Amino acid sequence: MSATIIDGKAFAAGVRAQVAEQVARLKEVHGITPGLAVVLVGEDPASEVYVRNKGKQTVEVGMNSFEHKLPAETSEEELLALIDRLNKSPAVHGILVQLPLPGHLNSDLVINSIDPAKDVDGFHISNVGLLGTGQKAMVPCTPLGCLMMLRDHLGSLSGLNAVVVGRSNIVGKPMAQLLLGDSCTVTIAHSRTKDLAAVCRSADILVAAVGRPEMIPGDWVKPGATVIDVGINRIERDGKTKLVGDVDFASAASVAGAITPVPGGVGPMTIACLLANTLTACCRANGLPEPEGLTV
Ligand code: NAP
Repeated sequence: MSATIIDGKAFAAGVRAQVAEQVARLKEVHGITPGLAVVLVGEDPASEVYVRNKGKQTVEVGMNSFEHKLPAETSEEELLALIDRLNKSPAVHGILVQLPLPGHLNSDLVINSIDPAKDVDGFHISNVGLLGTGQKAMVPCTPLGCLMMLRDHLGSLSGLNAVVVGRSNIVGKPMAQLLLGDSCTVTIAHSRTKDLAAVCRSADILVAAVGRPEMIPGDWVKPGATVIDVGINRIERDGKTKLVGDVDFASAASVAGAITPVPGGVGPMTIACLLANTLTACCRANGLPEPEGLTV
């Protein structure tokens, strides 16, 4: 293996420490405690684990955590009424509605009912538009975490060829916007892309956000490229359950210059960036300067 391993776990711990430090200062100097409200509808076990982790890490950095667990049969009207209360609450600076929502609820309608200034997931249509037009937005947490690690590892990204495999609204598209914002030449690839291998081989920065275990082999990776593997896939191997990314780590690590592992790469950065976004939202709401190094 020749690639440098980008340690997302350590990087995320550093981000959380920065957030904690700035939260402590906000409390001391201004008497303000940032607050994050997380709304979970239904009993999806994976979502329950995510929500528990978010709540725990929110408290660990000194913020207030407000958890709202609603039954699966909650009506749209009831959910929108809760979001309206959270929008109006001065103690709440960030609101996150855990996705996916049960089928009878319209996710777009629900997400777009969140006050864009409190939309710490960055999924509100206003934030998508702001990001797309290069204005100050709330930036989706997973791509924000990827950008932070890329900047840290590469310094300037200007002029580099970036390929993002995947065009979802939560990862692929905002990732591409962020890379464009940092003056990369960006290609977005997807399931209809012709000769994906050749497209990937053109990448100085290769971001994989597909959801297919180990789909990208080492011979699709340009020698020396920086590979960011967003994929989280649970597979059975040798009778055990294992988490793997969208990139075949062993073969890619022998070609790439640097690579994020799965687990321990992008994953831990997502919650760290959620906390960073909550702090940012709190500072903006109070007319204070943006937290340094934690926004785009
Ligand atoms: P998604 O909404 O399912 O999107 C997957 C994208 O991959 C789609 O754009 C799809 O193309 C493309 N794709 C599928 N098969 C392909 C193929 N054979 N060749 C090229 N492109 C292909 O997934 P997502 O929500 O973006 O998530 C992607 C992965 O990231 C998943 O493994 C997810 O678990 C993981 N994830 C991780 C984090 C984290 O915190 N680390 C956060 C979010 C997501 P089409 O549009 O043409 O169908």
